[in-house]
Amino acid sequence: MAQEDVFKKIVSHCKEYGFVFPSSDIYDGLGAVYDYGQNGVELKNNIKQYWWQAMVLLHDNIVGIDAAIFMHPTVWKASGHVDAFNDPLIDNRDSKKRYRADVLIEDQIGKYEEKIEKEIAKARKRFGEAFDEAQFRATNGRVLEHQAKRDALHERYAKAMNDMNLEELKQIILDEEIVFKTEVGSTADGASTIYLRPETAQGIFVNYLNVQKTGRMRLPFGIAQIGKAFRNEIVARQFIFRMREFEQMEMQFFVKPGTELDWFKKWKQTRLNWHLALGFGNENYRFHDHEKLAHYANAASDIEFHMPFGFKEVEGIHSRTNFDLSQHAKYSGKKIEYFDPESNESYTPYVIETSIGVDRMFLSVMCHSFEEEKLENGETRTVLHLPAALAPTKLAILPLVKKDGLPEKAREIMDSLKFHFKCAYDEKDSIGKRYRRQDAVGTPYCITIDHDTLNDNCVTLRDRDTMKQERVSIDSLRALIEDKVSITSLLKKN
Ligand code: ATP
Repeated sequence: MAQEDVFKKIVSHCKEYGFVFPSSDIYDGLGAVYDYGQNGVELKNNIKQYWWQAMVLLHDNIVGIDAAIFMHPTVWKASGHVDAFNDPLIDNRDSKKRYRADVLIEDQIGKYEEKIEKEIAKARKRFGEAFDEAQFRATNGRVLEHQAKRDALHERYAKAMNDMNLEELKQIILDEEIVFKTEVGSTADGASTIYLRPETAQGIFVNYLNVQKTGRMRLPFGIAQIGKAFRNEIVARQFIFRMREFEQMEMQFFVKPGTELDWFKKWKQTRLNWHLALGFGNENYRFHDHEKLAHYANAASDIEFHMPFGFKEVEGIHSRTNFDLSQHAKYSGKKIEYFDPESNESYTPYVIETSIGVDRMFLSVMCHSFEEEKLENGETRTVLHLPAALAPTKLAILPLVKKDGLPEKAREIMDSLKFHFKCAYDEKDSIGKRYRRQDAVGTPYCITIDHDTLNDNCVTLRDRDTMKQERVSIDSLRALIEDKVSITSLLKKN
């Protein structure tokens, strides 16, 4: 099956089984925004927990914070975001009006699309019943001409936006004769504008002094944070790979200047190990070292994962020098330095950052786990081979029939195990169907309670991946399962 088709299946599986829904679904969705459903939120929380614990449990010199999304507007001046990434504004000198360049160009793209629709509507009237829209679109000269112009404009526009090339945006507007006598700027509208943060990192930088002082932190040390970030993504494709509202897990590690490249190397390896512990295979990861660096960075590398649409960035590791702290010192007028008791000097720490998108991580887990498995009996089962520690539900508890005291026994087992890991109870349909439902949401274990259970206190334990079944005592269940489904089991492989 083509990789594209596999990806489509994963996307629809995510919706059908309560992992990911389009935002505002009953209103036909909102571009590049998604909601997580009942299973998705559990998987997402487990990913976050795995990351959080790998940072703050495994490293005694890393602490966490949770900074607000809204920040003082000057933060974004200091970080460089306001000048570099602001909405591109364009002034019309005749009308003295200010426009968003991206909106103007998107309107122009819409105009070409309207022209195509008009041609189609005209032809439909003319040909009546016999009208074949697909054929008309593929062959009509005027439609093809509009389509070509629309596509060329879209491509040029997407590139200019992604590169934030303001001159090119202005040129597009001139070439398309949208407005005349233009001036392009990227000024923010006054200091009272509150931005939605495009990265969580700045919340850490502005809290560096607070944490260092109150936590009596000694260099090297790190601050970890999980939180929402927002970007005005123009080319919104590939499901949750590129969203306008997403979540980041970022850690800023503050080090002595001169030691940053050693730490950069260490963090690259530490982060790769975190991914490898999931067992998706070394061949599905690679580093992409950046040749072109942001002006403030002196090294940068991405961890890429093999998605159905190619190797794609899931995480970035950046050596950001002392750029951010120095900028904040400059703009806030506060001294942001570290007094090193060993060398008796003060300096601005350098920073290694590890930055991973929760949603992209979620997507890579989904893509790797999804399988339509051909069984020996010729049937196909859809199964999510999720790492047990990330699975939304760890154990499904299934009474064989809905009577004879079996549901009561099943509930009793559930009541004792629910304190230790997430259990689900299901008594509807045949056992076979219930197993399939659990396979499809990645539940690693199922137990069946049958009539013998009432006498021998044993249940049938079924493994999701091997589908093997064994008879085990109820008393041994917790010990058999808890360890394998715990985040600790993953952390130990790091
Ligand atoms: P890309 O080049 O794919 O746009 P980026 O280099 O801008 O990504 P960073 O700024 O390094 O990304 O952000 C760190 C991480 O945040 C990325 O590795 C990715 O996992 C995640 N991320 C960035 N943008 C998005 C987005 N629009 N939707 C979902 N996750 C994102």
